Amino acid sequence: MKLKILKKGFNYSQDGPGNRLVYHLQGCNMSCRWCANPESISSGGSLMIEKEKLLEAVCPYGAIREGGLNRHICSDCHNQPCLHEYKNQGIHLSCFEMSEDEILDEAEASSTLFFDHGGVTFSGGEPTFQYPALKQILKRLKENNIHTAIETNGTHKRLEELFPYIDMLIMDFKHINNELHKEHTGVSNEQIMVNVEKAMSSHPNVLIRTALVNGFNADRKYINEFLSFYKQFNHENTQFELLKFHEYGKEKWEQCGLTYQMESGYIREGLEKEFEEAYRAKGLTIIRT
Ligand code: SF4
Repeated sequence: MKLKILKKGFNYSQDGPGNRLVYHLQGCNMSCRWCANPESISSGGSLMIEKEKLLEAVCPYGAIREGGLNRHICSDCHNQPCLHEYKNQGIHLSCFEMSEDEILDEAEASSTLFFDHGGVTFSGGEPTFQYPALKQILKRLKENNIHTAIETNGTHKRLEELFPYIDMLIMDFKHINNELHKEHTGVSNEQIMVNVEKAMSSHPNVLIRTALVNGFNADRKYINEFLSFYKQFNHENTQFELLKFHEYGKEKWEQCGLTYQMESGYIREGLEKEFEEAYRAKGLTIIRT
């Protein structure tokens, strides 16, 4: 099986322990307004443009005019000569393919770089969006004694089946309120809550992350509701991390032909520290990666 890869590279400690080879997989079932990788959302990949470098000559169908791309024309274009026949950096597809064998070979060849208990992480997009291939490659990495981690939005109904093949399970939990979760991400949080409970109850190494976004979840009322939920379960094997809203991927929305809709997402200085204290006060382990 092949996997669609958005990007890959080494990263230290932010995507699991130690130095890790991180594969960001294409495709996501959510559509968060603050997404830092909007090019990852489409299952087949997104055409991304850089207006300054875009040349009309690379499109024989007239989709490129005056530095812009008519994506309606592109949606009916199957041979995509702009990508395959021209070496023009003004337009590219957001993803490429790798087979399981290629990933396994690359991971084994990189194993000397997995210092400080590192290994391979699958992130996104949403890695479970390519569930069958993800399960296979996780299994094979484990068979080869390579440390594995995934960073997931927690929505997949069969997430639990992956637990035996994941050494570290990193889950996003964006909002405890289902209506607000649906409004801002496009999907319900019900399966996430089921999976958080399963993970806390039965996975040995869990990290639950919540990005604090002003006007969405960065409110003491919701933090208290998160804490009441977590306190129902065993939390000895679970760590928590609160992240601050950022706009790192903002310019990519335009490159993908999308409109960035977030306004005033930044939280006030020090708020995350106050919320971290609230977690600690409830006996939960807070980390910063
Ligand atoms: S995908 Fe097809 S229609 Fe769109 S710019 Fe490329 S060649 Fe033109």
